Amino acid sequence: MVEIEILTLFPEMVDAPLRASVLGKALARGAIRIRAVDIRDFATGKHQVTDDVPFGGGAGMVMKVEPIVAAVEDCRARLPGINVMLTSPRGRRFDQEMARDFHSRGRLALVCGRYEGVDERATQFVDGEVSIGDFVMTGGEFAALCIADAVARLERGVLGNEDSCQAESFERGLLEYPQYTRPREFRGRGVPEILLTGNHDRVKRFRRREALVATRLRRPDLFAKLTLTEEDEALLSGEEP
Ligand code: SAH
Repeated sequence: MVEIEILTLFPEMVDAPLRASVLGKALARGAIRIRAVDIRDFATGKHQVTDDVPFGGGAGMVMKVEPIVAAVEDCRARLPGINVMLTSPRGRRFDQEMARDFHSRGRLALVCGRYEGVDERATQFVDGEVSIGDFVMTGGEFAALCIADAVARLERGVLGNEDSCQAESFERGLLEYPQYTRPREFRGRGVPEILLTGNHDRVKRFRRREALVATRLRRPDLFAKLTLTEEDEALLSGEEP
């Protein structure tokens, strides 16, 4: 079972989203374990201060190293072998391959920075740094939630239908084919006839073609990495699915 700990100064920011929908049900069933750890609990002194002004001057506050390291060490002691990642715009860009890697390790801790970031020395007490994209947020909580969500849904029993993980975007180096549900017609727009035929083989070929076309159009970088089969080539050159 996958176990994820989110180390944060704002546990309430991560608790509520985890309780909703698919993850909420999986947590309630015990299919996954995700919890928030309050870094402030590891701060010492009467005021349990967790941030301070930067040495050398400059704007904003920096998260202090001691509470972070104390929280990380507590986490490592409780969950031996845990993979501890710091969220940071400087980290390696998160993707589906990393999600699978984190999932396969079984235990994951995500440390959330705030303010101007964390004291650089804290980075020496984690196993790596992870970014969710080239933009800057006010804190690591949303990044941690994105990562936790992507990792948790790989766990067996989290999604109702175990097949859904397989067909999806990125899982086979392809974007997903377009999906439709009822009604059959909406404001004059129908759904592709082939999906209504009940011919599973043709539906499968149609979806494969749509996935290939969508990937070629939207993500030429992913498309370039594919090894196309003869059937793929035929579908792309206009053969009927
Ligand atoms: N001064 C830092 C930004 C700090 S943002 C810099 O210029 O790099 C505050 C915190 O938000 C970071 O410590 C990190 O935990 C989180 N954060 C912000 N953007 C992020 C991103 N794209 N990916 C992951 N974490 C991010």
